[in-house]
Amino acid sequence: MREVACVNGQFMPLAEACISVNDRGFLFGDSVYEVARTYEGRVWALDRHLERLRRSLEGIQIEGVDLNAVRANMLEAYQRSGFDNAVIYVQITRGAGPRSHVPDGPMKPTILITVRLCKGAREEQVRNGVEVILVDETRWARRDIKTTNLLPNILALQQAHARGAHEAVFVTDDGWVHEASHSNLFIVSGGVVRTPPKGPALLPGITRDLVLECARRAGIPAEELPVSREALLSADEVFLTGTSSEVLGVVRIDGQPVASGTVGPITRRLHALYQDRVAAGDDA
Ligand code: PMP
Repeated sequence: MREVACVNGQFMPLAEACISVNDRGFLFGDSVYEVARTYEGRVWALDRHLERLRRSLEGIQIEGVDLNAVRANMLEAYQRSGFDNAVIYVQITRGAGPRSHVPDGPMKPTILITVRLCKGAREEQVRNGVEVILVDETRWARRDIKTTNLLPNILALQQAHARGAHEAVFVTDDGWVHEASHSNLFIVSGGVVRTPPKGPALLPGITRDLVLECARRAGIPAEELPVSREALLSADEVFLTGTSSEVLGVVRIDGQPVASGTVGPITRRLHALYQDRVAAGDDA
């Protein structure tokens, strides 16, 4: 088993992969990305990830990418890695050329795919839940596009880690909470699951959608409505969703316990329902 890269259709060991110093992804963060994971030999929710990638490319007007070829190369890179449970990363940049803010003419996108072992959430985190901190929302206005411009996310997460927390949740000036640095956010109040609606303010998480579907199929009331800072702080349960971490209970916010300070029953139920979906390969 080994880490594999595919650069513009060429496969190689990850350690040998190179990108031009003139690449606009490197120079400007002029690029979009996706992260998919596999379970026991199968890429989970691949169609959904490719559709989001298509939207991201459209969102920053990168043209001329054959997403069927990207799909085939993702699958081949995964196969070559030999890993069962892997993380497949795809980054597509506008391409390489002389450094100027606006490219002189049409560019050939750079397509990077890497495959690594998936670590996922630790069992102890799933069981006991995690702590989050609240940070100011400092990101741009199109957070629905999955760009590699992640500096505010990285600084927020660094701050969380420095304070011994797992995630940083962004709060806007007017007191709204849309998502965390690399996860979507859910609250449960009075038995009703709530997550902020899709739109420019947050990334339309694949896991978010799958978990909402799990809730609705199981008859658990679930709504897509704005979440205020107050609603978050007074919720019965809070949890995060993401491709690697799946469904992760939040038990403390800025050091204060969420309700009783343990992972709540609806969070546990949704975690189990999500595991069932994964086991059934049900990602359509
Ligand atoms: N929001 C942000 C900002 C993220 O980076 C991620 C992880 N890609 C998510 C939400 C969760 O998305 P997904 O479930 O598709 O991994």
